[in-house]
Amino acid sequence: MTKHIFVTGGVVSSLGKGLTSASIGMLLENRGLSVRMQKLDPYINVDPGTMSPYQHGEVYVLNDGSETDLDLGHYERFTHSPLSSDSNWTTGRIYTKVIEKERRGAYLGKTVQVIPHVTDEIKGCIKRLATEGVDVVITEIGGTIGDIESLPFLEAIRQFGQEVGKENCIYIHLTLVPYLKAAGELKTKPTQHSVGQLRQIGIQPDFIICRSERHLDRSDCEKIALFCNVPSNHVVEELDADFSIYQVPLALVDNKLDQMIVERLGLTNARALDLTDWHNFLNALRNPKKEVTIAVVGKYAEHKDAYKSIYEALVHGGVANEASVRILRILSENVSDREETRALLETVDGILLPGGFGERGVEGKIDAVRIARERNIPFFGICLGMQCAVIEYARNVLGFSDANSTEFEPGIQHPVICLMEEQRDIAEMGATMRLGSQPTELLVGSRSASAYGCLDINERHRHRYEFNYSYRDRFIDAGMTIAGSSRNGKLVEIVELDDHPWFVAVQFHPEFKSKPTVPHPLFKAFVAAAVRHKRNESAE
Ligand code: GLN
Repeated sequence: MTKHIFVTGGVVSSLGKGLTSASIGMLLENRGLSVRMQKLDPYINVDPGTMSPYQHGEVYVLNDGSETDLDLGHYERFTHSPLSSDSNWTTGRIYTKVIEKERRGAYLGKTVQVIPHVTDEIKGCIKRLATEGVDVVITEIGGTIGDIESLPFLEAIRQFGQEVGKENCIYIHLTLVPYLKAAGELKTKPTQHSVGQLRQIGIQPDFIICRSERHLDRSDCEKIALFCNVPSNHVVEELDADFSIYQVPLALVDNKLDQMIVERLGLTNARALDLTDWHNFLNALRNPKKEVTIAVVGKYAEHKDAYKSIYEALVHGGVANEASVRILRILSENVSDREETRALLETVDGILLPGGFGERGVEGKIDAVRIARERNIPFFGICLGMQCAVIEYARNVLGFSDANSTEFEPGIQHPVICLMEEQRDIAEMGATMRLGSQPTELLVGSRSASAYGCLDINERHRHRYEFNYSYRDRFIDAGMTIAGSSRNGKLVEIVELDDHPWFVAVQFHPEFKSKPTVPHPLFKAFVAAAVRHKRNESAE
């Protein structure tokens, strides 16, 4: 029978519930168990696709095209749990289902209520992951205990535990234990209150994980244990990771959390941990042999979660090259507005342009492409970043000075990026974006083909606009290589410049498929190019 772990959070938001859940998943998987991961988000948006990155960080896209919470990115980086639209539910999606059912008459004349109809729907989402052969489903509940929106989810997981029995389900509550400088001590009261609130709604946590900047001593753990009604070894400290999020699983192992979970759930098929690969990754991360500086030029540069997967993929690509990657976050508007930002860009070892929507900052991104192209700085364009690379080439090499994307200037003379016929058909059917994993065929001998080491790849998309096919030959004649295309050849997926040290721009989002121990080939190749660039610059 599948076992269940529910992870809730208390005291403050942004405690790293996603990372903790992903770490638990990683540890159980490492012990040979089959794990599924899921996040239930109490907000009312149907999915985070429409939310600003300022509000919600990056939108993480799955193979099936679901636009999900960025915590699912942690799940994919830490585990091999297959993720799909079943892995992220919001209040908006749950209510949409309930209301559709009500309209169909599925409730047989009953009054539709939060309990049992909404809670049944939530429990259904959890059960759906507990398929044949799955040992553990980890369900993270978004938000913080005490939020109004969370209540139906908490009630549903309370009922769930009642139904499957104590031996098949555990509740883990993550809290903050702040250190008060003035008092010179850690404070356990917020944790006591948070657990008190959970118990009021009928959930007794089995484990309490305490995020803290200082070590909890025995008396702190005993105090929390006493007030929160758990054994003191079930109070697990999770110290702030001093240099990498990839340390979190090790902190949990130090406190034997994996072993206690295995015992408590009777997971007799669990084997011993073997964290050799993980340790090797962390050792390489801790002891780089060189350093490169990569500028990420984006509209949301000041928001550290807006390009989360890109930053992580750069770290992975760095480790694969025994290099530490210093990321310079540059606001795209500053590239067009400030001379000193342009001068700074000329000094970096690589320039990466991430994806984005809307016109703000686009001219700065196009300027950044020009700097990379003309100064022979390794360049990696992603989605909107690729579109900017195409626009820059059209303006400055093909000589179409007004070239642009119809996203920013609908009636222009040279729409080198536009909605393609295929996309218009899809748009009329209501789905306006090309989303999810799609195949790309690579050109023999291209940089991308050599990075991937094969010619058929699948990468995830999230965009409306495309390279305008009618300009294809003119770009090729002017020296741009179309290094990747859709199977029917109509959609341009990758452009490269051969007379440049490393200039690769892709219409998809490779960052979503990079893992610490399996870096994405393009990120690995990009950082390698940055290392070469730095070496050449210092040799001059
Ligand atoms: N705004 C562009 C489009 O819709 C690019 C999207 C992206 O970078 N994800 O095509």
